[in-house]
Amino acid sequence: MQLLKDRIRKDGKIKEGNVLKVDSFLNHQMDVKLFKEIGKEFKKRFADCEINKIVTIEASGIGIACVVAECFDVPVVFAKKNKTKNIAGDVYTSRVESFTHGRIYDIIVAKEFLGKDDKVLLIDDFLANGKALEGLAELIEKAGAELVGAGIVIEKGFQRGGDEIRKKGIRLESLAIIESMDEKTKTIIFRDDD
Ligand code: 5GP
Repeated sequence: MQLLKDRIRKDGKIKEGNVLKVDSFLNHQMDVKLFKEIGKEFKKRFADCEINKIVTIEASGIGIACVVAECFDVPVVFAKKNKTKNIAGDVYTSRVESFTHGRIYDIIVAKEFLGKDDKVLLIDDFLANGKALEGLAELIEKAGAELVGAGIVIEKGFQRGGDEIRKKGIRLESLAIIESMDEKTKTIIFRDDD
């Protein structure tokens, strides 16, 4: 998606440890007009699919998922990161290893909001090692729901998540795939660049 790639090049900040900061339009301040274009793009890419729920993970996926959900005219459920050891109530749970924070946490979704009638599109801001998506896919499976696919705003193609998700047969649509980025020269190369 050219508009997104141009914005990443213009405003993205490459940090050490293979982290791309996009706080000015995606992860802190949010450009809702851009989100709307992202929503339309996902709607186009998944036009052949029946989708009745968007699922994401807190916190940074929520804003983008809400706008995408409006384009699909379906509700959003976000998996909560559970802070306590004792999981209360009737929930599905799975474990996720965080790329940005380097720790393991549980994610939960109330059984009330995910079930066998759901045809789910997963939405997240970044795909790095794929642990967040794998955890979400596990929740979908535990709930007996159907995983239609996953929509990612920025995939870091030089990390292994994308390959692993595709290998599992999950339909993955990433709007910008970064092939490489260099902190020193501040250059970003996208996968389908000329
Ligand atoms: P994964 O589970 O695929 O390793 O990492 C995905 C999650 O880590 C995303 O939900 C995102 O919040 C965060 N993340 C991974 N890489 C980056 C990055 O380069 N920049 C930012 N801002 N977040 C990232």
